[in-house]
Amino acid sequence: MSGIINVCDLCNKKIPHGAAYVAINYHIEQMDKDPLKLFPTIQVIRAEKVFTMCGKCGNKHQAAKMIEVLKRTLISSEPRLN
Ligand SMILES: [Zn+2]
Repeated sequence: MSGIINVCDLCNKKIPHGAAYVAINYHIEQMDKDPLKLFPTIQVIRAEKVFTMCGKCGNKHQAAKMIEVLKRTLISSEPRLN
């Protein structure tokens, strides 16, 4: 068994191995073109796990809702958040 233990950031329960969960990650990415095939590529320069939810909590907070929360928070007129 690996030493990785995932815990839900909302309900604090351990997420068992083999169970699906929601991971919200912060990536710094760079878009480029494959020099030979010329199709677009995306390279992840840095990745950081920001938030983890077990399947039960994740089902309550779907992606569309997360996008809305992030937009409202990050595009805030509150100066300390920008
Ligand atoms: Zn949970």
